[in-house]
Amino acid sequence: MNAFLKRERAYGGCFDRVPVPIPAEGEVLLKVHSTAICGTDIHIYAWNGWAQANIKKVPLIMGHEFVGTIVELGKGVRSLKVGDVVSGETHINCGLCYQCRNGMQHICANLKLPGLHRDGSFAEFMAYPESCLVRLPESIPIEYGALMEPLGVGVSAVENAQVAGANVVVVGSGPIGLGVIAVAHAMGARKIIALDVMEYRLGLAKRCGAEHAVDTSKSDPGEFVREQTHGVGADVVFDASGNPRAIAGAFKYLRKGGEVHLLGLPSEPTAIDLAPDVIFKEATVYGYHGRKMFSTWTRMLGLIESGRIELESLISHRLPLTDAEKAFELLLRGEDASKILLLP
Ligand code: ZN
Repeated sequence: MNAFLKRERAYGGCFDRVPVPIPAEGEVLLKVHSTAICGTDIHIYAWNGWAQANIKKVPLIMGHEFVGTIVELGKGVRSLKVGDVVSGETHINCGLCYQCRNGMQHICANLKLPGLHRDGSFAEFMAYPESCLVRLPESIPIEYGALMEPLGVGVSAVENAQVAGANVVVVGSGPIGLGVIAVAHAMGARKIIALDVMEYRLGLAKRCGAEHAVDTSKSDPGEFVREQTHGVGADVVFDASGNPRAIAGAFKYLRKGGEVHLLGLPSEPTAIDLAPDVIFKEATVYGYHGRKMFSTWTRMLGLIESGRIELESLISHRLPLTDAEKAFELLLRGEDASKILLLP
């Protein structure tokens, strides 16, 4: 089959022919319909410090956001059948550790991720555990299944936040930030202010439900947020940028007694001025790693099926898998791109 691989411990990736995987016990074989590029894949492609420390084995088929149709069942699979359309929870958990036994499977102590610890989805076929697949209803366009994983991070954060009737700031309007905006809008936020440095992304933020979209390279968002909240500050701030300077700024927009929800992944230690920005503010800070298994998925499918989230705006390109390299270069150059779907 065709696949896009990390073959060398160096910059880039390559398109190659590899054997079709054989599903192990408890796994199924999927024919991948669409697979999307995530920020993590960009780190792996660009081979930055994080990727060098976390990728243990190459060659490795990259990719972890996917939707596909089941074509074969491994031994012992009980809940799925050939022909089912499924999306994948990418946190493959052990089921035995403290977290798994206490309702926190998504932050299992022994997490394995496709495209990082085992072969991923940038391929025609993929073997995957039954326990981490979610069957999609027919009412949802199949390619949206490839957006569930990143959108779920936003759903997990927004459902935990107090957004109804609240003034919300979303720092970073990339795919994760856009998901946060769409879900916060669906869940009844009063006013959503989106921040980014790219004009293209700010336009998408408005399409997803932001009332204001501020280019932080041109004006001071702090002053704008204060004006828009009658001098009080935002009730809830989400960081989806992962940029240390932007995260430090995120705490400045928050009102006293407000909530900061951190979704973006900084690639270096981040300095926060704790006394004024957290302690005296009595700010509550939350971190997110993935989606609750599987209550986030249930709520997300409910929001999509009821038509409350519009997902089309999140997809900027649909490219054949053979163009994966082109897609990565486009994202690395920071051109007008948001979520790119690759079609094997
Ligand atoms: Zn575990």
